[in-house]
Amino acid sequence: MEPRLAPLVVVSGPSGVGKSTVVDAVLVLVPEVWLSVSVTTRPPRVGEIAGQDYYFVADEEFDRLIAQDELLEWAHFAGNRYGTPRGPVLEHRASGTPVILEIEVAGARQVRSRVPEAQLVFLAPPSRPELAARLIGRGTESPEAVAQRLAAADLELAAAPEFDRVIVNTDVGQCAAALVACLHE
Ligand code: 5GP
Repeated sequence: MEPRLAPLVVVSGPSGVGKSTVVDAVLVLVPEVWLSVSVTTRPPRVGEIAGQDYYFVADEEFDRLIAQDELLEWAHFAGNRYGTPRGPVLEHRASGTPVILEIEVAGARQVRSRVPEAQLVFLAPPSRPELAARLIGRGTESPEAVAQRLAAADLELAAAPEFDRVIVNTDVGQCAAALVACLHE
């Protein structure tokens, strides 16, 4: 019989919706959960730490990871590529540690088809104007990049019904509690 793996919860939703803030709150509530560290071709933002926020890699290295099937999922997003290293996710789950992925919608779809038991959670903004205000207000992107991310957001919002659960981010604590409940299902 296959050994039982610990839960895998995928948190998705448009850029700027507050995925990181909510996931950080979950990690405070349930410190034994492991948040997967993605690989990206995007350059680091000020303050981001390599190996902690992301593994920042060149295009050639990303190509190699795809060719060697080392990514559980990957996607293009706003001009860059992002992916989840497969090995660490499996290792943590096999050793009984629940895993959270914080990824965009195309990647969440791939996880759905490859890991059918994964819980897929969509974090939705209270409204589109609020999402735009948050993306602009956090000041991490150029105006062009904000526009690109908002265009992607429209497509992502339409995908909400594909998810096991939709949580509207009006309150970080409530969202975090709802996510913790998913980890125990
Ligand atoms: P950011 O550039 O703001 O850090 O991330 C842009 C988008 O890519 C966000 O929606 C984020 O959740 C998503 N993302 C981060 N890591 C991954 C990953 O490994 N795979 C996929 N598919 N999306 C990711």
